[in-house]
Amino acid sequence: MALDILLLGPPGAGKGTQAKRIEDDHAIPQISTGDMLREAIASGGGLGRQVAPIVERGDLVSDELIVAVMRDRLERSDTRDGFILDGFPRTIPQAEALDQMLDSIGRSLAMVLEFELEEDEAVDRLMGRAVEEGRTDDDPDVIRHRFVVWREQTLPLTEYYTEQGVRVALDADQSVDEVYEVIAAELQQRS
Ligand code: AMP
Repeated sequence: MALDILLLGPPGAGKGTQAKRIEDDHAIPQISTGDMLREAIASGGGLGRQVAPIVERGDLVSDELIVAVMRDRLERSDTRDGFILDGFPRTIPQAEALDQMLDSIGRSLAMVLEFELEEDEAVDRLMGRAVEEGRTDDDPDVIRHRFVVWREQTLPLTEYYTEQGVRVALDADQSVDEVYEVIAAELQQRS
């Protein structure tokens, strides 16, 4: 059975780092919509030019656009045994679209891991990352805006997945290794 996992949580909670570890240990791909959009922007094509100003402001690109991108991505053969979603869905309509896409291929999310982290701690981490990686959406004003967007548009997913009975809360205010230990134990129960 495919292992379809979703990582939820605020920006800066460590989802990308943990997704890469899961990818290494379980041979299923990390699918990061943020990485995909940044690549599209770097390559300078039509999609990149369309989304660049939105990403730079810290707003969300439209549900329609991101669902289309994700539909293409999930059709690739490397997702056959499962995937780790990181950064999608970010709105209720995106979550509903994902449910439909999975349903149409007879699959469903095995687990939604929600990374819980105080906003102040997450902001501190993002400020550090801004220095290290030079992401243009990691400047202080944009970071604060991304949190407003996250609270308004993405936080409702907590309830959505709690109701589905697939949500597992995770204390993300621990070291990378400690967080991964918890994730590994949860995954062992499901794979
Ligand atoms: P991330 O690296 O996941 O923080 O994503 C960086 C930026 O890409 C976000 O601030 C949004 O502008 C855009 N983005 C990534 N994923 C999505 C999504 N699922 N829906 C809408 N916009 C997204």
